[in-house]
Amino acid sequence: MTFRKTLIAGMVAIACTGLLTTPTFAKGNGQQAQATTAQAQVLSTAETQSLRFMREEEKLARDAYIALYRQWQLPVFNNISQSEQQHTDKVKALLQTYRIADPVTNDAVGVFQNTDLAALYATLMARGQTSALDALYVGALIEEVDIVDLQKSMRETTRPDILNTYDNLMRASRNHLRAFVGQIQSKGVAYVAQTMPQAEVDAIVNSPNERGGQGGGRGNGQGRGR
Ligand code: MN
Ligand code: MN
Repeated sequence: MTFRKTLIAGMVAIACTGLLTTPTFAKGNGQQAQATTAQAQVLSTAETQSLRFMREEEKLARDAYIALYRQWQLPVFNNISQSEQQHTDKVKALLQTYRIADPVTNDAVGVFQNTDLAALYATLMARGQTSALDALYVGALIEEVDIVDLQKSMRETTRPDILNTYDNLMRASRNHLRAFVGQIQSKGVAYVAQTMPQAEVDAIVNSPNERGGQGGGRGNGQGRGR
C-alpha cells in the first residue's frame, strides 16, 4: 500500500509537470521557432504550445492502451486506444490548419518529443506491467490528467474550432474515465482519484455515459460497476 501511494504520488508529480511547465515543454525543439514564425499572427504562443502538447498527450493515451492491451488482453484498452487514435488525429488536423509543426515525427508506440510525456509514459508502463488492476489505474490516471490538461488548454483559447475539438476530447475522456473506474469497481475496489479532486471524479463516474461530438470508441459495453 505504501509502495502504491508513493508510486501514485510520483506519477502525479510527473503528470503535473505537464501542467506546470507549459512555457518550457516545447523548447529545445528545432521545429518550434519555425512553427512559431509561421503562425505567430494567428495563434498565441499558449494556443500553439497547447495544441502541440495535446497532440502528444493523446498519442500517449493511445500508446499506453495499445501496450496495456498487449499485456493484459482487456477489451477496454483495445476499444479506447482506437478512440485515442482519432483524438490525436483531430489535434494533428488543427496543427495543419494553423501550419504548426507536428511534434509527432515518429508515430511508433512510446516515442515522444516532449520529455515530460516521455518520462510519464515510462512511469505508467512500469506500473501497468505489475497487475491488471494497476493497468486499469494507469488508464484512469491518463484520463484524469487529460481532463485537467484539456481544462487548462480551453482557458487559453477562444477559437471555436479549437474549443470544439477540446470539448469533444474531454467528453470522451469522461467516458473513458467511467469505463476504467467501472472496471476497477467491478473488481470490488473503490476508486481513489489520482490527480483530480475526488468530488469531481465522483460526479463524472456517477453520471451516465455521454454521447455527441465525434464519438468513437467510448468503451461501450464495459459497464460502470452498477
Ligand atoms: Mn483522448
Ligand atoms: Mn481517453
